[in-house]
Amino acid sequence: MSSAPILVVGGGPAGLTAAHALASVGQPVVLVDKADRLGGAPILSGYAKLVPSGEWARDAIGGMVRRVEQNPLVNVHRNTTVAAFEGEPGRFRARLSNGQEIEPAAAILCTGFTHFDSVNKPEWGFGTYPDVVTTTQVEQMLSSGRGVHCPSDGREPERVAILLCVGSRDRQIGREWCSKICCTVSANIAMEIREALPRCQVYIYYMDIRTFGLYEDKYYWASQEEYRVKYIKARIAEVTSDGKRLIVKGEDTLVKRPITIPFDLVVHAIGMDPNVDNVLLAATFGVKLEPHGHIARAPTYSAMGGTSRPGVFVAGAATGPETIDDSIAQAQAAAMAALAFAQGGLARAAE
Ligand SMILES: Cc1cc2nc3c(=O)[nH]c(=O)nc-3n(C[C@H](O)[C@H](O)[C@H](O)COP(=O)(O)OP(=O)(O)OC[C@H]3O[C@@H](n4cnc5c(N)ncnc54)[C@H](O)[C@@H]3O)c2cc1C
Ligand code: SF4
Repeated sequence: MSSAPILVVGGGPAGLTAAHALASVGQPVVLVDKADRLGGAPILSGYAKLVPSGEWARDAIGGMVRRVEQNPLVNVHRNTTVAAFEGEPGRFRARLSNGQEIEPAAAILCTGFTHFDSVNKPEWGFGTYPDVVTTTQVEQMLSSGRGVHCPSDGREPERVAILLCVGSRDRQIGREWCSKICCTVSANIAMEIREALPRCQVYIYYMDIRTFGLYEDKYYWASQEEYRVKYIKARIAEVTSDGKRLIVKGEDTLVKRPITIPFDLVVHAIGMDPNVDNVLLAATFGVKLEPHGHIARAPTYSAMGGTSRPGVFVAGAATGPETIDDSIAQAQAAAMAALAFAQGGLARAAE
């Protein structure tokens, strides 16, 4: 085992997995996160019950955090970034923003994504009307125990609209990608609202439904057949207000007619943008970004978890929209690749 640590940047589901995997085979790890807490988006943004496990994020991801924080082989630096990363394989040097210098055998970037900011979609009412909220805000309402309510006056909504693909699949605002998980998360939120507020009607406005793989039955069909969530295939024009309720205007694209429906609460199913730090991370670590601004992966078939720079690996939503399960799987693969690289470095040093 290399006595030089492996540097893991980012302590979300991917970084926690990579750190745990490495430490569990005796490899020392330095784990750096710019936030004051580990756990990544599910903890920092207060997600409620995760799909597809149904576990509370604070339990599922909180358990991953504790496992890493209690491991003596993982040296955790919170409120910290990597200020410089230089050298060659076998002779890397990294300077952390807290002044510490280390000589890592390899690095794994697990720096995740940034939530789409709905103010970039002003015609859909966010920032203008307090009762237009995002899926992360609804997750926080559920996880805090307050329940789903209208922020303007605290009342329970009688009618909720969830608008899909906000900040995804939208060429007009330069976001062509599908964020993969928001259809499933929205169907799950719709079912949770129906369970908590049985008199509340929930509508999901969609372009296409992408409850991919095994999620089709458990979320798409269950939300309609068991929970009576209504799906409208529509092109939305705008979200306004008549002074009492929010008004969603658009065109039902199945029957090709304009539709105007009043709601108490409108929820934007926000997508996953590239991490706002990616340009800086790319410059610091000398890795390439792919055209949308995520960290570019080396060809997967030969080198899972690789980047454009030997010795620097990547996993999770840093590479593009990913689910937690897939982020975990990628992080395991990147940890294995980094370990093999570090051991190759030991062999190189002994030559
Ligand atoms: C509303 C919403 C709900 C979701 N719900 C689910 C769900 O139920 N199930 C599911 O499978 N997926 C869900 N997802 C997707 C899930 O959030 C991601 O799959 C997951 O967070 C990816 O983990 P990650 O570790 O790659 O990245 P992140 O969770 O983004 O973690 C990245 C970490 O890196 C740190 N970091 C960032 N930049 C730097 C830097 N420059 N230096 C140091 N540290 C840095 C951050 O502080 C953070 O701790 C949801 C997404 C959204 C938008
Ligand atoms: S997962 Fe669904 S809501 Fe999310 S971007 Fe893809 S199609 Fe749109």
